[in-house]
Amino acid sequence: MTTPKRIVIKIGSSLLADEDRLVPRYAFMHGLMSDIAALRDEGHDVVLTSSGAVALGLNAIGKPPKRANVLDKQAAAACGQPLLLNAYKQVALEYGFDIAQVLVTLDDMEQRKRYLNTKNTIIRLFDRDVMPIVNENDTVATEELKVGDNDRLAAKVAQMIQADHFIILTSVDGLYDRNPSEAGAQLVEQVDDVSTYLEVTNSVSELGSGGMLTKMKAANMAQNAGCTTIIGRGTIDRPVLGLLSNERPHTTCVAQRSPKSAFEVWLTDRLQVAGSLIISPEGVSTIDKSGKGLEAHHISSLHGDFQKGDVVHLFDQDGKEVARGLTNFSADEIMVLARDNDRKVVNLMGERGGLEVVGSENLVLLEDHHLVWDVPDDEVKDIA
Ligand code: GLU
Repeated sequence: MTTPKRIVIKIGSSLLADEDRLVPRYAFMHGLMSDIAALRDEGHDVVLTSSGAVALGLNAIGKPPKRANVLDKQAAAACGQPLLLNAYKQVALEYGFDIAQVLVTLDDMEQRKRYLNTKNTIIRLFDRDVMPIVNENDTVATEELKVGDNDRLAAKVAQMIQADHFIILTSVDGLYDRNPSEAGAQLVEQVDDVSTYLEVTNSVSELGSGGMLTKMKAANMAQNAGCTTIIGRGTIDRPVLGLLSNERPHTTCVAQRSPKSAFEVWLTDRLQVAGSLIISPEGVSTIDKSGKGLEAHHISSLHGDFQKGDVVHLFDQDGKEVARGLTNFSADEIMVLARDNDRKVVNLMGERGGLEVVGSENLVLLEDHHLVWDVPDDEVKDIA
């Protein structure tokens, strides 16, 4: 790499914590920090997304990993996170640089204002040459409000800082075309369309919380944000440089395109789906051909208990997703608007600044394959 790049590196718990004794694996940390120091010396900005808080905190809670419940894990994260960051700090200082802790929750990734605040903090740390280390704030995140796995969290960070490279270090060499334990399984060196591998990865289990399926989904998110993902084994010697210089086998998920804007990336690739709207053929042609916003009379049914300002997915009558956008009205308000059986209420709502449900400025037509993450399990409500 010659020109300065932005690089996000994701490290899984099994690389950082000794599986039996649940203590930091300093030898791995040294190899990692030595590679990062070399990248920083070449002028690249590096962010680390690191797991390990829960694993390193379990001794203090007195529970082995298999017997720990959610509360134990949240308490373990509170014990393990300072241990993890302290270990990183000491090793990083030996290699001549400083680190900072950035703890986030799902809302920090999904809500625009908090997303931008987090981004600005990371950029400010880059300006001061301090390397941010991001993890989920497991102690405060409840199950339904969790990002859940650090593969997706790291992909969000890559999207947020418009990274050029996203490196996922794990316990295998990369993606295989079938279960790696089967005879004849081949490493896939290059992936263009992640969606073609989802079925294979679904059945493949691998150490770590995410597995290969979430790594593929994370790579898809990065691809859509113009970032290339490398998935490879985290060894002690040259864990990162060995992959970047092609010394070791790995899988590369190639960036698909340069996104039009950072806002478009944030809007289209998200962790959770707030809700969906099923729209008429006339609605599809209005937003597609005429470039206008979506109005209530174009909506035939909706899904999810979403609120004003949430991102909704727009589907045509055949179930094909055509666009994503920020809604100006909640699900309940859309039911009133679309049924149009109380003019007085509708007029009052219109006074809030028009009756467009999704304005054209807040709407992105989908050209690429964007995977959907967590869909709400509410029932579909028909308007008519
Ligand atoms: N945030 C968790 C931890 O620090 C890890 C989640 C994951 O590995 O995906 O232990």
